[in-house]
Amino acid sequence: METERGNWTSMNPNGIRRNLATNDRPKRGVPEGLWRQCPQCKSTIFTKEAAARFNVCPECDYHFYLPAKERIQQLLDQDSFEEWFTELRPTDPLGFKDHREYSKRLISEQAKTGMHDAAVVGKGFIRGRPVVLGVTDFAFMAGSMGSVVGEKLTRAIEEAIRLKLPLIFVSGSGGGARMQEGILSLMQMAKVSAALARYDSAGGLYISILTNPTMGGVAASWAGLGDVILAEPGALIGFAGKRTIWNTVRLELPKGFQTSEFLLQHGLIDRIVPRKDLRTELARIVDYCERQRRRAPCSVDDHGNRTSEPFQLF
Ligand SMILES: [Zn+2]
Repeated sequence: METERGNWTSMNPNGIRRNLATNDRPKRGVPEGLWRQCPQCKSTIFTKEAAARFNVCPECDYHFYLPAKERIQQLLDQDSFEEWFTELRPTDPLGFKDHREYSKRLISEQAKTGMHDAAVVGKGFIRGRPVVLGVTDFAFMAGSMGSVVGEKLTRAIEEAIRLKLPLIFVSGSGGGARMQEGILSLMQMAKVSAALARYDSAGGLYISILTNPTMGGVAASWAGLGDVILAEPGALIGFAGKRTIWNTVRLELPKGFQTSEFLLQHGLIDRIVPRKDLRTELARIVDYCERQRRRAPCSVDDHGNRTSEPFQLF
């Protein structure tokens, strides 16, 4: 911004005016690290201040991306997480190549994120309550679901059945099913969903948490199947993206379409919970469902058939 009097950015420390906004010099964004810019309110905020507020903008409450590791730290009691199935590694069964070979892409994604694939699963405690937790991380190929993500989540569900524990999945999957693994990715949707059906028949409580963004085959399978579905404020949640829908059906979409707030209004999710309240809210839901079970210990109806209480915990 250049005013008649000039502004402080156009002065060097000696007060000599110079023009910084020349066209031959590319404009720089806010440097990563000490400061960051909020994509919603455009404020420049102190990274440490946002981190102290669970990675949420102090000006407008925009929820920044949160790595799986930090998500686990925020949700679980300190040092209570026991990670499972860390031996699973992705492969390139189709020898897939777009503008880059999938096998090479995997290596660079692993180096970038320090993860073997996009999902982390295991067991931990939320304010002393044992739970099975699974988290997908957007940083690894947009959190897309390939064979390893599907397998980890399925095994986590099976362990939750065996251990009779509540199950919580947090989706940061903007990539849906991972196209680089073709049908092997698509079948994970059915595989995880079938495991969740078995978990449901066993009477388990499954809480799904949708974060920004949750799209495609993930939104259309396990992320949308929770007994209770929570979402962070302002998250992008949907199946096909806005541009894809426009290119396919040429329909003008309603304002705020595919946001947490829109989906709550239309009954697709149960509650919007700010990140700072998630831990407490999860503990509360687990307690509530456990109380319901104690209040109604008999799960047999007048004809002697087992009734399927949606919140009955085993
Ligand atoms: Zn902001």
